[in-house]
Amino acid sequence: MDTVNLSNVTNAQFEAVERIGKEAGVDYDDCYQCGKCTAGCPMAHAMDYAPRQIIRLLQLGLVEEALAAKTPWICAHCMVCSARCPQGVDITATMLAVRRESKRRGLKPARETDIFDDAFIGNVRSFGKSNEAILAAKYNLLSGHLMQDMLNAPKMAMRGMIGPKIHSVKDKDAVKCLVDKALNKGGE
Ligand code: SF4
Ligand code: SF4
Repeated sequence: MDTVNLSNVTNAQFEAVERIGKEAGVDYDDCYQCGKCTAGCPMAHAMDYAPRQIIRLLQLGLVEEALAAKTPWICAHCMVCSARCPQGVDITATMLAVRRESKRRGLKPARETDIFDDAFIGNVRSFGKSNEAILAAKYNLLSGHLMQDMLNAPKMAMRGMIGPKIHSVKDKDAVKCLVDKALNKGGE
């Protein structure tokens, strides 16, 4: 992390941190930067800021840096960090809250992840489950990676993972309701 001038941090930045903390159910003052979250994170090697550093940015009011980071979009939501934190800081919920705030502001630190998320959730809302072929087609079209995973299609078809039939669950509306409830709970 570069040297930062904290005297430039504004009230608006701290208010944004407070909003993120409220949404995640976290008080960032609780974190004492022990690093246990980062030590257990299976995705830390691929992140631009370690989980501990995202919390530090928020503690310091450096919200724009946290919102522009790729880390919350690389996070796999496995919850290892939250389980390991001796202070009960919910880092996983923070990653989701940072993602949502970043999306609300129209930032796109990880465009592909965002497109995949939307395509996956749309798929589950429509059919009550994910249809791999539709998911892949939608993602490839929207992301512009038109040929991505195309070589795997024959193997997937042979294993019955994709095919002409669209699979859906019996009570699609109940699943849609659940998804919407979860999304609204998260403030999306
Ligand atoms: S484990 Fe908890 S207290 Fe330790 S750095 Fe991570 S968030 Fe902070
Ligand atoms: S929830 Fe995200 S940040 Fe936490 S350990 Fe898993 S991948 Fe890492």
